[in-house]
Amino acid sequence: MDYEKLLDRLYSKLPERRSPPPPDIPPLEVVHVGVQTKVRNFKEVCDVIMRDPRICSRYLLKELAARGAIDESGVFTIYSRVSTQTINQLFKRFLDTYVKCKTCGSYQTELKRQGKVWIIRCLACGAETPVKPI
Ligand SMILES: [Zn+2]
Repeated sequence: MDYEKLLDRLYSKLPERRSPPPPDIPPLEVVHVGVQTKVRNFKEVCDVIMRDPRICSRYLLKELAARGAIDESGVFTIYSRVSTQTINQLFKRFLDTYVKCKTCGSYQTELKRQGKVWIIRCLACGAETPVKPI
């Protein structure tokens, strides 16, 4: 067995050290209807990251300076046209700020709200990080 080939194989199996959102968070399904923008799987995605869709939508609307609402089927409608790229960037920022554990990088976290104090508690390592209320 060729030693260099063996090394190649070994290195190709090492996990990558970057930590983008893990693959189990489904991508947002963004569609444009007239001047409105809809995220069809909004509730589903919020369920996966264990966040209240109202909190996540409030963050996005605030950042976009837009108005919108979530309907009974979990579809999030923004009452203006926002590019898919912009929504994804903002959602990524929400994940980084309000979901991702600052200590170990896990996305398995819960948001605890104690009055005006919001804390992200990591279910993987137990770290608690205060965050700015939305
Ligand atoms: Zn952690």
